[in-house]
This record gives sequence, C-alpha cells and structure tokens, in this order.
Amino acid sequence: MMRVAVLGSTGSIGASTLDVLARHRDRYEVTALAAASSHSRLLEQCRVHRPRVAVLSDPGAARELESGLRAAGLTTEVACGPDALADVAGSSDVDAVMAAIVGAAGLPSTLAAARAGKRVLLANKEALVVGGGLLIDAARRGGATLIPIDSEHNAIFQCMPPGLEPGRAPRGVRRVLLTASGGPFLRASRAELSRVTPEQACAHPRWKMGRKISVDSATLMNKGLELIEACLLFGMEPSQVEVVVHPQSIVHSLVEYVDGSILAQLGNPDMRTPIAHALGWPERISSGVESLDLVAAARLDFEAPDVGRFPALRLAREAAESGGTSPAVLNAANEVAVAAFLGGTLGFARIPEIIEAVLDGHDRQEASRLELVLEADRHARGLAESLLVGAARSRA
Ligand code: NAD
Ligand code: MG
Repeated sequence: MMRVAVLGSTGSIGASTLDVLARHRDRYEVTALAAASSHSRLLEQCRVHRPRVAVLSDPGAARELESGLRAAGLTTEVACGPDALADVAGSSDVDAVMAAIVGAAGLPSTLAAARAGKRVLLANKEALVVGGGLLIDAARRGGATLIPIDSEHNAIFQCMPPGLEPGRAPRGVRRVLLTASGGPFLRASRAELSRVTPEQACAHPRWKMGRKISVDSATLMNKGLELIEACLLFGMEPSQVEVVVHPQSIVHSLVEYVDGSILAQLGNPDMRTPIAHALGWPERISSGVESLDLVAAARLDFEAPDVGRFPALRLAREAAESGGTSPAVLNAANEVAVAAFLGGTLGFARIPEIIEAVLDGHDRQEASRLELVLEADRHARGLAESLLVGAARSRA
C-alpha cells in the first residue's frame, strides 16, 4: 500500500487526485488531507477517504471540521497552525505527497516532503519557482522522487530517458518544447484585453482549474512560471525552452534530442492522466480518462506566442535568465496582482505592469539560502501592495 497525503485536497487538482485514488483502493491509502478553509468539503472528503489526519490552515474552519467529524463519528484528527502542513508532509506514515496547494503558501510543506525523501507529486509550481534550486537540492539530498503533475512537465518527464535526476539535464537532450493553449484571449486585441473581467478570465477553453491558475493561463504568466519550472526540473537553460502555442491542448509537450528526434506525449486534456502517471510510476494505472480520438481531433495547430500582447511571458523569461531571487519576486508580484484583479481592484492589462514595476524595484540577490528567498518574496509583496494603493489613488 502506498500511503498518500493530498495537500490542497479541496481544489481542482486535489479533487482529481482523490478521483484517481478512489479507483485504486487496493494500492493507495489516503493518510492525510489538507486545505485552507473549506471545512464542509473537507468533511465530505474525510467521510469518503477516512484519513488519519485532516489539516485546515484557518483556525475557525478547523474547529468547524472537528465538530463535524465528531458528529459523524469519525476518528480523523484535526491539525491547524503554521507547522501542521509541513509535519504531515514529512510524517513517517506518508509515502507520497500530492503538493497541490496554490501559491508560495505551499513551499514549506513541499520542502518538508522533499527533505523527508517522499515521492513528491508536484502540482504546486509556485513552490518550485520560489524555492528554486533549494527545493531541487532538498529533493536530491533527501532522496525524494520528484514527479511533476503540471501536464507539460509530466509530458516532458515521460519523454525523457530513464534515470532522470531532479535538476540535471540528461545527455543527448537538445531542448524542450512547452506547449501552451494560449488561454481564453488568444485572439483578443489589446483593447479587448483591457476590458477583461475575472469571470471571462476564469472561463478557460480547455481546462477547468482553480481561479488563480486560470488567470495565469489568460495572461500567459502560467507559461512563464512553467518555463522557470522546466529549467529547474530538467536542468535546462532558459534558451533551451521554447514555448509553442497549441490551441487544441492535445500535445502536452515535447523533448528534442541532439539527433533531431522529437518525442511528444499526447492525450485528452484531463489532469487525471498526469496524476495517475505520477502515482503509478514506473507502472501504469488507469485514470478514468477516455481514449483520445485522433480522427475526431483531426488537426494539431502550432504557432508562436505573441509576447507583445502577453508581456508576462517575456517578464518570466527575463526572470529565469536573471536567476537568483528574481523568479521569487516575479511570482510574489504576480500573486498580489492576480488577487487584486480577482478582487476587482486591478484591470487585467495592469497585471504585467505591476509585476514589471516590482521587478524593476527589486535588488536581485543570489538565492543561496531559504531566508533570502523568503525575504525577497515578502519585499516584493509589500512593493506590489504599495503600487496597487498608488494605482487606486490615481484612479480616485
Ligand atoms: P485551487 O484553487 O482549485 O485549489 C487550491 C487548494 O489549495 C485548495 O484545496 C485550497 O484550500 C488549498 N490552499 C490554498 N491556500 C492554502 C494554504 N495557505 N494552506 C493550505 N491549503 C491551501 O487550485 P488548483 O487549480 O487545484 O491548483 C493547485 C496547484 O496546482 C497550483 O499551484 C496550480 O498552479 C497547479 N496546477 C493546477 C492545474 C489544474 O488543472 N488545476 C494544472 C497544473 C498545475
Ligand atoms: Mg500546465
């Protein structure tokens, strides 16, 4: 039995993970579930999956969960507090950790899982972008198996030669091609982009996802974060990662070898495929995803991204090239700007402007210690917040 902790269980990836796990009760046991505040949803998941422990970061929600569990006669313990997530991720009764919390909030638990040598199923790309080489080193030193869940990186992982080590480029690989759906505004003009609402941004044409990553997909920052993610996971230089817009989202990414061969992974756009791959690896297990009908799909289109209309991709590439604390700053500014957009206080087209201003105001450091990265993250959030206040004043 593989004992699994699902961090971010009430989210989109969390729900897909529990769906795959429920298909294989003979192989997997759910030991822990964790979320931010949605106690009713977590209680329902505890009823079905009977974990040993459930974590909620919001104390009031944790109390609600506790009373719900007792009323239902369930023995699941409830944990709360700043260390609870990392404790669960590193716990000796956990073999695999699904890191599916959204944002840099997932970094401490992902790091704990890597240090403790778990199988880390990494959906939480922000943790990797912020933790960078420190997270990769922790995985290597801890003997963790790092398997990406992001569909593109999972595709690349599948196309890489066996014996892949976190952060080391395998011999013979020339570059990777990262596919992008292009998001809901692929053909929108600059004027249309300036009027985009949160509801429009969250209506992705191919994938049903959490709100933050949906906005990132619409600005193409998601692809920017993924470019950084690819460099870290596979030891690539930014110049070795090409972004290709592929609106059908059937080819999930490709690896090019020095002999000119290109290997790709294809499938229906459903996150249960990479989740099942990462859970079963090196074996294959069923995921509930239907067969891809290539004849019905009929065509696969590819085009270059437009960094003029989508400057977030350029900013992310620059941050990848600059390295050090720049990716953490990019991510922090993006998290603040996206939250402001979703809260209705910032226009869609202003998101990359805020990020660029924060990057310009940041004094890049080497990311040699975790404290330096966390300090850069805090500083960037403060700077982004003050720019938002300034923007609101100038509008008033
Ligand atoms: P979501 O918003 O649907 O879910 C986020 C989950 O994280 C929820 O369970 C929430 O309760 C939990 N959470 C948030 N903040 C927390 C905190 N401080 N402490 C504990 N739990 C917290 O998001 P999602 O779409 O499932 O995405 C999760 C991660 O996976 C993101 O990093 C995203 O970029 C990545 N990802 C998602 C998809 C997708 O298809 N949804 C694809 C690739 C990568
Ligand atoms: Mg992706």
